[in-house]
Amino acid sequence: MKADLHCHTHYSDGKHPVSYLVERALENGVTHLAISDHDCTKGLANLEAVEGLCFVRGVEISCSWEQMELHIVGLCIDPSDAALQQLLLEQQVKRLDRVVKMDQKLEALGTEGLLASLQGSHAVALTRSHVADFLVDHKVCKTRQKAFKTHLNKQGKMYVPSDWCSLEQAVAAIRNAGGIAVIAHPGRYPLNRTKLRRLVEAFKTIGGDALEASYPHIAPSMQQDLEKLCVEFGLYVSCGSDFHDAEAHWTDVGKFPPLASNGEEHAVWHHPVWMKQVGEGL
Ligand code: AMP
Ligand code: MN
Ligand code: MN
Ligand code: MN
Repeated sequence: MKADLHCHTHYSDGKHPVSYLVERALENGVTHLAISDHDCTKGLANLEAVEGLCFVRGVEISCSWEQMELHIVGLCIDPSDAALQQLLLEQQVKRLDRVVKMDQKLEALGTEGLLASLQGSHAVALTRSHVADFLVDHKVCKTRQKAFKTHLNKQGKMYVPSDWCSLEQAVAAIRNAGGIAVIAHPGRYPLNRTKLRRLVEAFKTIGGDALEASYPHIAPSMQQDLEKLCVEFGLYVSCGSDFHDAEAHWTDVGKFPPLASNGEEHAVWHHPVWMKQVGEGL
């Protein structure tokens, strides 16, 4: 089996529909694919069976822990769970409010039309990625990277703070919806080893299940550290491409470093929820 347990569609900040992800997955030998959009599950509606591919129902929830923003992936969730959908709706409203405020800031800077440009798009969860694209399309910024740096990050001209749910709320919503809670890309947060360890400990204490220990550009030493932390804290190991866009040529569905043998042993496909729901799944 080859599992890619973290991908985005055009319902959040991915550029493509589910059908394109399926195409890429099949071409790259992926057997288990989780669609895990930011704060929405629209990509999980109307999934049609595809021979040779097993879908895992996912989501990626933005949340806060000690003033830091974290992303928690939920795997094997029941998208019809009312409490989960309530939380996601609240997050979507916060995302819309944030874009409204960004639109006002951008107008004050002399560029109109951000909000209007997003009407009629597929996106259910509006992200800073959408804003970055607008800034590039309207020649306010040369590249998306620059847009984040000068306009969208904390020091940026259009920065609007986000008020996401807490880590506890994200984990509880995923677990109550029958799912497996995973810390997404733990090496991408501004955490030193001591604080990362404290996060993992807190996550375990509140019922978290797994850490992503393989994703694009992860340093081999970080992958090793994360796999060790999983063993130490009795957490499972997950992995995923965090695929958003085929034009970003360095990413693709199924493209991330293989798990170490230790990682395979503790992989999330051995989790009882996965075994019961997905099984071999083919
Ligand atoms: P949001 O959740 O709305 O704050 O948007 C965050 C999304 O923007 C992430 O999921 C990434 O896809 C993207 N992103 C964040 N930082 C950067 C960056 N520096 N360059 C390009 N994309 C970024
Ligand atoms: Mn994203
Ligand atoms: Mn993320
Ligand atoms: Mn992601």
